Amino acid sequence: MSFKSEIEKLNWDQISKQIYASTAADVEHALNTAKPDLNDFAALISPAAAPYLERMAQKSHDLTVQRFGKTIQMYAPLYLSNECQNICTYCGFSLDVKIERKTLSDEEIMAEVKVLKSYGYDHILIVTGEANKTVGIDYFKNAIQLLKPHFSHIAIEVQPLEQEEYEELIGVGLNTVLVYQETYNKENYKKHHPKGKKSNFDYRLETHDRMGKAGIYKMGVGVLIGLEDWRTDSFYAAAHLDYLEKKYWQSNYSISFPRLRPCAGGVELKSVMSDKELVQLICAYRIFNQEIELSMSTRESEVFRNNVIKLGITSISADSKTDPGGYANPNVNLEQFEIHDKRTTSQFIQSIIDQGYEPVFKGWDKVLQ
Ligand code: SF4
Repeated sequence: MSFKSEIEKLNWDQISKQIYASTAADVEHALNTAKPDLNDFAALISPAAAPYLERMAQKSHDLTVQRFGKTIQMYAPLYLSNECQNICTYCGFSLDVKIERKTLSDEEIMAEVKVLKSYGYDHILIVTGEANKTVGIDYFKNAIQLLKPHFSHIAIEVQPLEQEEYEELIGVGLNTVLVYQETYNKENYKKHHPKGKKSNFDYRLETHDRMGKAGIYKMGVGVLIGLEDWRTDSFYAAAHLDYLEKKYWQSNYSISFPRLRPCAGGVELKSVMSDKELVQLICAYRIFNQEIELSMSTRESEVFRNNVIKLGITSISADSKTDPGGYANPNVNLEQFEIHDKRTTSQFIQSIIDQGYEPVFKGWDKVLQ
């Protein structure tokens, strides 16, 4: 049993119809019930919920403060390689994009560590393309062993792995794995992932089950907003989350909301999400799930990120580089995508403090494990 058998029970068109047919009464129910379910989530992300945005924002804020206090966990992405054997229509690292390829050596990784430690980071997210031969399990194991003495929390966003491989990496200090399905619409998924191992929709879909069985501390799910109708895709992500939480209740969960940004590959968007709609989605997730980490990257603008700090986000990156080696030796020709909020870490944390929140660098995860 995996999420593959669960998703087969769902019908994309029916879910879509349900969302778009939601009424004000459905939204009221979702806002008033003590235990919102997936039907309530559908109402909260529907067009019918747009006039309720103020109420949703207030509720999301209150629930987040009750559970997390006024704290924002800081993390930094650490790009180790831009080599990739897949073709993804939306990504600057795609195999068919003619860019310089680079994988960091031990010395280059340590040069990045030096810069990130000088900024104060303690939570790190390793990011690579998907190139099993050069950036496979042995490379990750070595990288985690190099990084572990310097960071209390290590996450990866790399190719989906086998259960035994996750177990091996957990053994050397891995805490969190983020794998985004990109889109839960199988047909559309095929169009955007025409070549490479990532073209196998089902293998990717079952990845979180493998992580759960391996006993991962935290796992992240999500969609790449823009590839499909964002409301229907987000419903599927919430259904995936709901399934995982019930089955792998020992793990913790994270959701993020990447909206497509300009990149070397370029791609035509199927749906364009407005800032208001992204706020609606963030609040809907918080109302649906009070425990989950809601994470935001520097893909979003300075103004937008300032505004959402109080609305439910609990984990955020700053000062990010998306080119391997970019903290010590920036090279825009190696970037995955162009970041939007270009503030330094100290400028960004000041904006958090100015809003009455506390930026947290040192996590509490380590003592709980
Ligand atoms: S999204 Fe990931 S798998 Fe696809 S091209 Fe980019 S790095 Fe490779």
